[in-house]
Amino acid sequence: MQANKRYNDLNTYLRNLFGCRVQKITVDAGLTCPNRDGTIASGGCIYCNIRGSGTGAHAKGLSVFKQLINGKKSLSRRYRAKKFIAYFQSFSNTYAPLSVLKSLYEEALSVEDIVGLSVGTRPDCVDEPVLDLLQNYARHWLVWIEYGLQSASDKTLALINRGHDVQCFIDAVEKTKNRGIKICAHVILGLPHETRQDMLHTAATIQKLGIDGIKLHLLYVVKGTRLETLYRQGEFKCLEQQEYVDLVCDFLERISPAMIVQRLTGDPHPKELAAPAWSLKKTETLELIRTTLEKRDSWQGKYIKS
Ligand code: SF4
Repeated sequence: MQANKRYNDLNTYLRNLFGCRVQKITVDAGLTCPNRDGTIASGGCIYCNIRGSGTGAHAKGLSVFKQLINGKKSLSRRYRAKKFIAYFQSFSNTYAPLSVLKSLYEEALSVEDIVGLSVGTRPDCVDEPVLDLLQNYARHWLVWIEYGLQSASDKTLALINRGHDVQCFIDAVEKTKNRGIKICAHVILGLPHETRQDMLHTAATIQKLGIDGIKLHLLYVVKGTRLETLYRQGEFKCLEQQEYVDLVCDFLERISPAMIVQRLTGDPHPKELAAPAWSLKKTETLELIRTTLEKRDSWQGKYIKS
């Protein structure tokens, strides 16, 4: 981590690696998820909407190639980015026959200036052949796999209908290690009935596994989800902005300074958001995280013993 940084952010990591601004381009490959199609469960995680946390670009008829070309155009204008990572985000991006996955990943890697892949998936959706395939790409490109954990409490995972337990996540991480593939974990702060202690337990679990990156999300309520019904019934409350910021800082203090922080807030679609309204103020929340760390005179890994 750079001396003037309080956490190890993705942009700096990518700039150091490639010597220029690198942006991730979100790709919707038109896949599905075993937690939605009835294989594990139906209806999906209680906070997930019908687009599987994705852009819906595939439903509009856009190929992976076209999505990347469009993404390159807009991100190079907006951020002066020179290189790009194809981020397979929607649904579970290792949940298809190997030949289909190979063709999708290679379609992405064939686009000029794509320097890597980031593959979002569930920990129960990886096997040796798909990891071998990604390992092979990792010899020439930067390859990240992003596993959804969300919480290290089995009770919470059952409540949110994740369809897997904490051990499943640990097994996936162990299977993926030592292959040259970088591992990122997704965690949601503010899940129903979770206490600060539960969330710090999630931080400690992630820390013990020695993974490479983390994405922290705020639990926000999307219209039309089962979570919205629970919210309307008063089953749980959303976090207040400063409450979330404090939890993010607590979490960062308890993970290794070497871990790449890929995200620190959620990114709700304004039209789909039911609550909390402050979750749309992304820049303000990031600034509050920075100033809170400053006020605490704190940083990522402060409580990690070296
Ligand atoms: S695993 Fe992802 S895509 Fe599947 S139901 Fe849960 S949030 Fe939605």
